[in-house]
Amino acid sequence: MALAFFSVPQCDAHLVLARTADEGGLSCFYVPRFAPDGSKNAVQIQRLKDKLGNRSNASSEVEFLDAYGVMIGDEGRGVPTIIEMANTTRLDCVIGSAALMRAVLVEAIHHARHRMAFGAKLVDQPLMRNVLADLALESEAATLLFMRLAGAFEQSASKDAAPVERAWRRIVTPAAKFWVCKRALEFTGEAMEVWGGNGYVETGPMARFYREAPVNSIWEGSGNVMCLDVLRAFERERDAAHALLDDWRGDASAHPALARALQSLVESLSGDPAAREASARRIVQQLALCAQAVLMARHAESEVADAFIETRLGDARGETGRVYGTLPARFDHAGIVARAFTP
Ligand SMILES: Cc1cc2nc3c(=O)[nH]c(=O)nc-3n(C[C@H](O)[C@H](O)[C@H](O)COP(=O)(O)OP(=O)(O)OC[C@H]3O[C@@H](n4cnc5c(N)ncnc54)[C@H](O)[C@@H]3O)c2cc1C
Repeated sequence: MALAFFSVPQCDAHLVLARTADEGGLSCFYVPRFAPDGSKNAVQIQRLKDKLGNRSNASSEVEFLDAYGVMIGDEGRGVPTIIEMANTTRLDCVIGSAALMRAVLVEAIHHARHRMAFGAKLVDQPLMRNVLADLALESEAATLLFMRLAGAFEQSASKDAAPVERAWRRIVTPAAKFWVCKRALEFTGEAMEVWGGNGYVETGPMARFYREAPVNSIWEGSGNVMCLDVLRAFERERDAAHALLDDWRGDASAHPALARALQSLVESLSGDPAAREASARRIVQQLALCAQAVLMARHAESEVADAFIETRLGDARGETGRVYGTLPARFDHAGIVARAFTP
């Protein structure tokens, strides 16, 4: 039974891991759809997978019957070779989830600006404004994070790249893949609810967005695997990690909540290794939030950055709940929503 995933089967070529002998490690092969003599390569699609969502991107089950392939990288070193690609795809997952969040946020705000309920537009009702403002903060932080990571991928392409760029790429990317993709799950459900009953039906866009949300968290390494990868990267890239934390401390001087969060992050990262693994989700959540807080402090309007930092890392965290829409009243909910809807 061929149960492995073979996505985008219509591609001109795939990277495939296989062994050259019964013993020894996996090697990485470039397997084209057509062999050099023009014949169809022996890549046999058994069936398409019936997925929850992500249906526009076909995934299949496959068998290779003496298929033609060209080894890429060193024999037996297939996993490190293919990880080069996987790391870029992880960035893609962050971009996809952040884009999904932005798309449903705009749909939700647009709906709230027109739907009248209990005598007023939804967007003018304080509790709905709180929900939308909280979603807007999350969406902005996710967007800034993927853009910073994309920049780091470009900056760190050369061997003499600055350690801090290497750290964003190697350490923050899996953290962002864990965090942003997870946040998208709850986010799309909440945005769907803004549409009320119509959010739940397939004639509108929200149900499809909701079904699409989980995939980025699962593929290319699920949440726990990402968290363990962050811890591993932190160990292996000590210099880069220290450069990153030093860089962030500069931003934290104006934000005591961020400074305290960074301090506790450093303590968690240097704690007992056994306890660290069990706490990996909490540590990586803190890392991702610090990264987002730093970027919000650098690029967002100061009131918006303060609202994000206070409610995600500061004292206001105690006042907020575990769902969206629990921002303390002192923040300018209407202003945050209006800003998010301004092109
Ligand atoms: C739509 C889709 C398309 C895909 N396309 C492709 C493709 O084209 N090519 C391809 O090769 N793969 C593809 N995949 C496979 C995908 O990359 C894997 O399913 C994914 O990485 C998870 O691996 P797994 O299924 O083996 O789960 P497992 O490794 O069995 O993991 C199951 C659960 O255990 C957790 N876990 C694993 N190890 C640990 C640990 N040490 N500690 C704690 N928790 C742990 C994981 O986080 C996960 O929650 C696709 C998957 C999907 C959903």
